[in-house]
Amino acid sequence: MSLPTIDTWRRRAACRGPETALFFPPSSTERREDRDEREARAKAICRQCEVRAECLDHALRVGEMHGIWGGLNEMERRNLLDATYS
Ligand code: SF4
Repeated sequence: MSLPTIDTWRRRAACRGPETALFFPPSSTERREDRDEREARAKAICRQCEVRAECLDHALRVGEMHGIWGGLNEMERRNLLDATYS
């Protein structure tokens, strides 16, 4: 039996391809309304993703600091961890 690795679930990620940029903030300053729109589009893709649970689990385990993972942004992941371990 082999354990799922980031490489195995990433191959089935719905965010592969040209939409990947939606999942991370741009290198330049981003207005709040632009961020909200970008994140909403990314999260809509996450809702359709068959590996959402694996993705979120990975982000929580390694402490991903930036971007949308498993349908949550960095603040939502931090809040989830705080709620889980408080
Ligand atoms: S849950 Fe979202 S960020 Fe994670 S692999 Fe799927 S589409 Fe990409």
